[in-house]
Amino acid sequence: MTEHLLKILIVGDGNVGKSSFVNRYISGNFNRTYKMTVGVDFAVKLLHWSDEEKVRLQLWDIAGQERFISMTRIYYKGAVGCIVMFDISSSSSFLSCRLWKQDLDHKAMLPNGDTIPCLLLANKCDLAERAVSADTIDQFSGANGFFTWMEASVKENKNVGEAMRRLVQEILSV
Ligand code: GDP
Repeated sequence: MTEHLLKILIVGDGNVGKSSFVNRYISGNFNRTYKMTVGVDFAVKLLHWSDEEKVRLQLWDIAGQERFISMTRIYYKGAVGCIVMFDISSSSSFLSCRLWKQDLDHKAMLPNGDTIPCLLLANKCDLAERAVSADTIDQFSGANGFFTWMEASVKENKNVGEAMRRLVQEILSV
């Protein structure tokens, strides 16, 4: 039995749903008031990935950031994958994804020097009011080196587990 320990970052502007995402994924709940401790906390989940492989996930949520800020290298150290999240009803949160991705590409590296796999996640797709079209997201995702993008609704529990599964699959395949 092989056990992989994977440090995964969840980044994006404040209010896009990062804490809700982690909470939903870890505990299955959607709780409006949930907030992780600012700064150092991470959540853990153990997956039985296959007959031979277990995956221990460490999810690091950037708590308490309203806008893009350049993160310290310590935060990125050892990370092997990332979800860059925005709120589909907020064009400013979408525009910030370029900055989040650039920061990651400069500071988060695999031992072989490659950039870490990143999935772009358009959250709150339950909302009728959309500020960004699928075409725009698709183009942006390809041009900025995301391996894929998905829509999700943490509120309706849509694509939360699926996004994590796609990311883990990508991490284990590189
Ligand atoms: P964070 O600052 O990125 O960690 O965002 P939070 O997880 O604190 O969520 C910000 C707000 O968005 C909260 O009021 C959540 O209840 C709400 N929220 C999170 N995910 C969704 C979603 O999928 N749909 C809708 N409509 N609201 C959401």
